[in-house]
Amino acid sequence: AKGSGRNAYAVFDSSLRERVRTRMDLEQALRGALERGELFATYQPIIDLTTGELDGFETLMRWEHPELGSVSPLQFIPIAEETGLIVDAGAWLLRESAHQLAAWRAERGPDARPLHVSVNVSVRQLRDRALVQLVQDVLAETGLPPEALWLEITESGVMEDLETALDTLNALRDLGVTMAIDDFGTGYSSLSYLNLLPVGIVKLDRSFVSEVGLHGANESIVRAVLAMTGALNLRVVAEGVETELQRDWLHEQGCDLGQGWLFGKPLIATAHAELIRRDVRV
Ligand code: C2E
Ligand code: CA
Ligand code: CA
Ligand code: CA
Repeated sequence: AKGSGRNAYAVFDSSLRERVRTRMDLEQALRGALERGELFATYQPIIDLTTGELDGFETLMRWEHPELGSVSPLQFIPIAEETGLIVDAGAWLLRESAHQLAAWRAERGPDARPLHVSVNVSVRQLRDRALVQLVQDVLAETGLPPEALWLEITESGVMEDLETALDTLNALRDLGVTMAIDDFGTGYSSLSYLNLLPVGIVKLDRSFVSEVGLHGANESIVRAVLAMTGALNLRVVAEGVETELQRDWLHEQGCDLGQGWLFGKPLIATAHAELIRRDVRV
């Protein structure tokens, strides 16, 4: 039988966590998290919907605090953005991701389908001119072809300060990296500015994907987005693909790529060893 002492501890432990996880305490704990090695990278597969092959990964940041346990990015990323901590943490993650990708590509060899890695870039990083230098340095260090590095930006982040963002985005485009619009459909969603921004990828938000295949209300919106992105020669990643029905419907409508639990959850790099080797022809 479970000892009552252990249950009591569990109750104490969870209430302590509740108490400690106020905004201010989280902010305090987040300072120095990077230096203490509490942040780490997870990678979620992005799959070619036509062939089922692995196309790349999105890097998602995780925070494991010794006492608070694992804190959701939905909680800590906004704090990291407000405090500016995201600039250093994001730079570290971008470098880490690029080195990981270079290792994976080397492992798969020159004849395998070339993988990409897609890294989230917050508006704080976008406003910082150091981002362009960082990307340049990371490309030089890793020897990666620039198009293998995707940077995900949100519509709202860009529109907040369009002029500065455009400067940075154009400088990044000149380096040859691939720009992606994240959470497409949730922000301004002005179809016209897609042409204005130097992007090659649109990531269709999960909220639109969740209902497709069941004659859901969003199907016509998704069709319209795919028609437009097709006309603009943009590739589309459908986010949050959880069922085969969603995958098949999206593929029928001409969506190129998918990401979601159907294909795999975000995991640390070593947990993907089998997936990395799977499509390689020997
Ligand atoms: P996001 O960029 O839209 O990332 C996709 C989120 O959807 C991830 O949540 C991922 O785990 C989740 N997801 C993926 N597939 C599925 C699915 O099939 N079903 C469902 N229900 N969810 C799925 P996560 O990892 O909790 O990250 C949340 C958000 O935190 C991200 O949303 C992004 O805005 C932010 N974030 C995470 N890592 C970073 C980072 O390194 N830098 C920045 N600036 N933001 C980050
Ligand atoms: Ca993203
Ligand atoms: Ca997204
Ligand atoms: Ca999202």
